[in-house]
Amino acid sequence: MIFVFVQHRRGEIEEGVFNALSQAQKLDLGKIALIIPGSAEEAEEIGEELSSFAHEIILLESPELQEPDSEKLFSAIQKVISEEESWIFLLPHTALGMELAPLIAARFEAPVVSDVLEIEEEGRVALRQFYGGKTCARLLLPPARRRIFTVRQEGRKPQGKAAGRKVRIALRVEGRRRFLGFERPAEDEVDIHEAEVIVGVGRGIGGRENLKLAEELAQALGGVVAGSRPVVDAGWLPRTRQIGLSGKRVQPRLYIALGISGAFQHIAGIRGAGFIVAVNRDPEAPIFRAADVGIVGDLFKVIPLLLEEIERDKRAREGGR
Ligand code: FAD
Repeated sequence: MIFVFVQHRRGEIEEGVFNALSQAQKLDLGKIALIIPGSAEEAEEIGEELSSFAHEIILLESPELQEPDSEKLFSAIQKVISEEESWIFLLPHTALGMELAPLIAARFEAPVVSDVLEIEEEGRVALRQFYGGKTCARLLLPPARRRIFTVRQEGRKPQGKAAGRKVRIALRVEGRRRFLGFERPAEDEVDIHEAEVIVGVGRGIGGRENLKLAEELAQALGGVVAGSRPVVDAGWLPRTRQIGLSGKRVQPRLYIALGISGAFQHIAGIRGAGFIVAVNRDPEAPIFRAADVGIVGDLFKVIPLLLEEIERDKRAREGGR
């Protein structure tokens, strides 16, 4: 049996759930069961949406399970999974997934591997990166009837099959924590995870006053501006725009790195980018090893040229209509 934990925020399913689901399908070990917590209506609605991806849809119905409280969720989940002799438990690699996985592991004395890219050999082997993506290792798990994995978000999609059987479990759960509220990012704050085009700025941009040049380029390409850690530490960009090991891992179609040296902590955040263009005046800068196209030059000279080229291209397209 493979259990997949369906994390959602008031009905909005966490992207990583789909990735965990496609890993479960790839393992092909028989029954897949989804565990969907939430209020009765919420769980029902999500169950409906995901029903074609699994054999069993377990709706854990309780108003106490609406919030991402790992203590309450753990208490409800363990009731369900302790009935099965052997299983693999998959969770998305999110803050909540990282809280739940060790709780389940400790309760069932099961091995756990976090942030896996692939699970292989019937769940005995997991592929995982180390040192911010510098190296990859295949980990062999000890023999165990129960195993737990948090799965990295990679944007894979599971295959829909026949509708799964619904199992409703209404329960009351208790916990010591009190959920105070959910704080949404400010309206004008962009989620760089979602951006198709990102213009990344590094220390080479020289100061906050020069950001407008990068913003102009981002705007011309329909993208957003993000940056390296020193740029965020200096307060030129908010923390939500930091890319890298201690920032966000992004997956834009196009990433333009301006004045970024390419430290491995930064590269760790852009491995999911489709196409990388780097502008740096140092021909030896490590960013060029990660880039599809490298421009050796002063970014203050290169950006206006890029803007001109984009404008010319736009005019040519409009003229061609
Ligand atoms: P620099 O390394 O100073 O590079 C600036 C670059 O700009 C240089 O290559 C220079 O040639 C170029 N340049 C200067 N002027 C111009 C110009 N006019 N035109 C063109 N090029 C120019 N870093 C991150 O980014 N994200 C993280 O999440 C992150 N996490 C970290 C976690 C840990 C635990 C540690 C120890 C470090 C972390 N770092 C992170 C920091 C990382 O090691 C680097 O220090 C950082 O990425 C360097 O940022 P930078 O490339 O902007 O600056």
